[in-house]
Amino acid sequence: MTYDFDLFVIGAGSGGVRAARFSAGYGARVAVAESRYLGGTCVNVGCVPKKLLVYGAQFADEFEHAEGFGWTPGQASFSWPTLIANKNREIERLNGIYRKLLVGSGVTLLEGHARLLDEHRVEVDGKTYSAERILIATGGWPHIPDIPGHEHAINSNQAFFLDELPRRVLVVGGGYIAVEFASIFNGLGAQTSLLYRGELFLRGFDNSLRTHLHEELGKRGLDVQFNTDIARIDKQADGSLQATLKDGRTLEADCIFYATGRRPMLDNLGLENTGVTLDDKGYIEVDDEYQTKAPSILAIGDVIGRVQLTPVALAEGMAVARRLFKPDEYRKVDYRMIPTAVFSLPNIGTVGLSEEQAREAGHQVKIYESRFRPMKLTLTESDERTLMKLVVDADTDRVLGCHMVGPDAGEIVQGLAIALKAGATKQVFDETIGVHPSAAEEFVTLR
Ligand code: FAD
Ligand code: NDP
Repeated sequence: MTYDFDLFVIGAGSGGVRAARFSAGYGARVAVAESRYLGGTCVNVGCVPKKLLVYGAQFADEFEHAEGFGWTPGQASFSWPTLIANKNREIERLNGIYRKLLVGSGVTLLEGHARLLDEHRVEVDGKTYSAERILIATGGWPHIPDIPGHEHAINSNQAFFLDELPRRVLVVGGGYIAVEFASIFNGLGAQTSLLYRGELFLRGFDNSLRTHLHEELGKRGLDVQFNTDIARIDKQADGSLQATLKDGRTLEADCIFYATGRRPMLDNLGLENTGVTLDDKGYIEVDDEYQTKAPSILAIGDVIGRVQLTPVALAEGMAVARRLFKPDEYRKVDYRMIPTAVFSLPNIGTVGLSEEQAREAGHQVKIYESRFRPMKLTLTESDERTLMKLVVDADTDRVLGCHMVGPDAGEIVQGLAIALKAGATKQVFDETIGVHPSAAEEFVTLR
């Protein structure tokens, strides 16, 4: 049987674009369907616009710190519409780059919603295409719990397009997005509260990071409330919102932003026409080569719900392209030692095991930890502290985890991730000469 394409990719996000481009580069006939925006979540409503807003929010600190270095900054004022318009322009530029990358690598780009008709046929805007293999890379979508008045709340997609910076914001959730956006709104001057239902936010991260970040956010005037959840939301006559908490208290706000996790995007995808199955959390079930239960259909990225990060979706896309069309270069994705950053203000950077995970896994651990005032702040009024921590296996001396809260934590931890992946021991860290004066050198002088 002959097919229109060797590979049909559904979704032109991080994973889909990577798989499509490289497959085409290896000589395969490839189509990709995209219903919404080229580049997917990361480029349009995720990593990229988020980081631009974080940069925007950081300037408030910079203006304040400048005074300690002799500057007298003028009367600073902030325009949210300007930031959003400039952000939108940059995203449009990136959309154009993605289009060029796809078309330039010989991929057939179909702009429309794709629906599976069976295990080899896909329909896009009334036209049917056949393919030997189909790759589902449809990503995820924000989920807001179904409480009374939930329709008055916004999700992260909407937060990127607000007309004005809200004066009072409630951010609900305790994961990456909640912490990052609470920092953005707070940094830009909105009166911001972060409400998390549990004891301490960022579940799964090292406990020292979680408590240290909590302290630092408080120093910056962010109101962080744990063991707090909203029971209902009511719109007031003046257009503002009232949140009634489960403990009976009420909070007033102009914007209530839910960052309570994401669900796989499977809307009208036609999975029922195939043998593809879902796991108990509703993600597409795949084996360790991204093969679904339907022999011709694969899935990668957020829709399989493993590690929902762009570089992971890219690695999975790459692995699929190589396994199918360049088998001699194929290597399985290694999910160990994935570095990650939370772009809160200050940032978290982390790689490897937390102290708690290391102990749970049965390691005898040695902990090296340091809290210090970053040099840049010594001429300022700020009492911000940086935290650095190493988790070391006492028996083998191997460094199991590196954790940091402080400026540029993500940048610093990216380099350390290479050392951890290579199996570096604490002795290797100790024998490494520092870059002086820097914050990062602390990681090689911890004793
Ligand atoms: P996506 O990028 O979501 O792409 C899926 C694409 O499929 C979308 O374009 C969608 O429109 C399309 N699609 C869906 N259904 C269909 C259909 N039926 N037909 C045609 N097209 C369809 N990760 C990081 O590593 N660092 C960060 O700093 C970071 N920040 C983030 C901030 C936010 C606010 C969010 C929401 C996420 C962030 N992430 C970050 C996570 C990252 O964006 C995702 O892990 C990544 O985008 C997943 O890539 P993907 O290819 O699986 O899916
Ligand atoms: P997360 O899964 O990280 O966090 C969801 C949060 O919402 C948790 O604190 C969870 O609490 C809470 N929650 C879940 N359901 C409810 C509910 N019904 N009521 C109240 N609270 C609830 O999701 P995010 O939306 O923050 O982000 C999604 C993913 O996107 C991340 O996991 C990450 O992989 C990726 N991402 C990465 C970023 C980066 O790399 N910098 C930035 C942003 C996103 P509990 O812990 O109690 O379950």
